[in-house]
Amino acid sequence: MKIHEYQAKELLAQYGVPVPKGILLNERDTIPDDIRFPCVVKAQIHSGGRGKAGGVRLVNSTDGLNKTAGELFGTRLVTRQTGPEGRTVHKLLLTPAERIKKEYYLGLMPDFENSGLLILASACGGMEIEQIAEEQPDLIFRQPVSLQIGLCDYHVRQLMENVGMSSSLFGQMRTILKGMVRLFLEKDCSMEEINPLSETEDGRIHITDAKITFDDNGCLRHPELMSLMDPFEEDEKELKAKEAGLNYISLSGAIGCMVNGAGLAMATMDMLEGYGGHPANFLDVGGSATEERIKKAFEILLSDEQVRVILVNIFGGIIRCDIVARGILGAAKDLDVKIPVIVRLEGTDAEEGRRLLRESGLLVIPAENMSDAVKKAVDMEVSRIEYFD
Ligand code: GDP
Ligand code: MG
Repeated sequence: MKIHEYQAKELLAQYGVPVPKGILLNERDTIPDDIRFPCVVKAQIHSGGRGKAGGVRLVNSTDGLNKTAGELFGTRLVTRQTGPEGRTVHKLLLTPAERIKKEYYLGLMPDFENSGLLILASACGGMEIEQIAEEQPDLIFRQPVSLQIGLCDYHVRQLMENVGMSSSLFGQMRTILKGMVRLFLEKDCSMEEINPLSETEDGRIHITDAKITFDDNGCLRHPELMSLMDPFEEDEKELKAKEAGLNYISLSGAIGCMVNGAGLAMATMDMLEGYGGHPANFLDVGGSATEERIKKAFEILLSDEQVRVILVNIFGGIIRCDIVARGILGAAKDLDVKIPVIVRLEGTDAEEGRRLLRESGLLVIPAENMSDAVKKAVDMEVSRIEYFD
């Protein structure tokens, strides 16, 4: 789960990280008259790259602020990370403008290799880490931190030396990193990023931007974090899937996938890509899926306007194939299915499942095996055949 910059800064502040005091403006709020200028107006959307897209602006007066707020509220901001559809701005964060001398990158993530934490730091602040990794990989410093020993002063010193930070900033950097590590572990984060972490002209550290992502699997332990979720930012299909207890992730292709088991679901997506296709989603309906849940899953796939063909790939071990078929038919009865459905059913009660689908009147295309199913789906995605037009 992602949160906004203003929320990330509030959380960091609770962990002792000195973040600049900001003011949050909602769409219909009146602008307070005690704002000090110059100030930076920052569109709050779940994306980086706002600066380049015009979502971070400097204003010098109340008039300038009114004008900028008017322009930004309700705008769809398109950044490198949002995709062409962009994200609508509903909130603005106002922060006092700071005179910045140098920008650094600072990130914290799990270190899967060493079962610990990994701090990433770079002197190339302001750029996305993916871009630094591509263009100047040598300028990313990696500091593993063991969970048993925790963050030590030498970690902080090594990091500062490697990115060329003045040692006079040690105390501030230690406080920031200590807070980030404690927050990461206590709240089950999957990523914390301060980019840029800036050095001001008068020699202070300024937390210019902040991003935090939580591990969804840890959210159950932190009901207090749920209030930070912004429904405007969440994918509608993913929200519906979550409510139905389905493991679903939206992707950008045109082949809607319904698969049982996370491993088979990933193998299906890999195979689709391998044949030149593009999955519209990851979906693991799970072993204990009921007819009702399959119906819901099928409805979610059909509600996706980009989906041009559905691929059902079920290997019935625990799940019964006839239940899958009945779920699909249940959804098809209520909805007008105008796209082909390629079905590979194998395992428990597969014959009955196939019979139900065959006799249903749906445009069901049976597949002999997984690769046959995948090839057929890719052919249909590529040729864009309109069966019912
Ligand atoms: P992002 O583009 O979404 O990552 O948004 P950021 O919050 O990182 O802002 C983008 C850029 O705006 C930063 O890299 C800074 O260069 C600039 N910026 C933001 N706040 C300030 C500020 O207070 N003073 C100055 N000089 N620049 C700022
Ligand atoms: Mg940034």
